[in-house]
Amino acid sequence: MKVFTLKRDKFRKARGGYARILEIRCEKCGHFLALYQKDGPGPLKRMYVDRILAPEDLANLRGISVKKLPSLSCKHCRQLIGIPYLYQKEKRPTFRLFEGSVTKKIIGAS
Ligand SMILES: [Zn+2]
Repeated sequence: MKVFTLKRDKFRKARGGYARILEIRCEKCGHFLALYQKDGPGPLKRMYVDRILAPEDLANLRGISVKKLPSLSCKHCRQLIGIPYLYQKEKRPTFRLFEGSVTKKIIGAS
């Protein structure tokens, strides 16, 4: 099994310093979408690109400008999951998730 190293940086610190790994799945068909590092408390409304741990094609989008980011959709049923935008406050490329588009399961923490 692959071991993921969670990021510890100013973004994480700003959210209380703790993080969980979430398994994100399509709400409609249950297909796996991503492993995601969620920093701090609160609901999951957006996914910062720099916190996507897997799959590789999504994780590799880190560093790419928002204008070039694709929309996030389910590879199985094609349901649209989220749209890219720049989280202005931190200047981070982000996917805004449509409400109720995903299910989440906590599979790790640190
Ligand atoms: Zn789906």
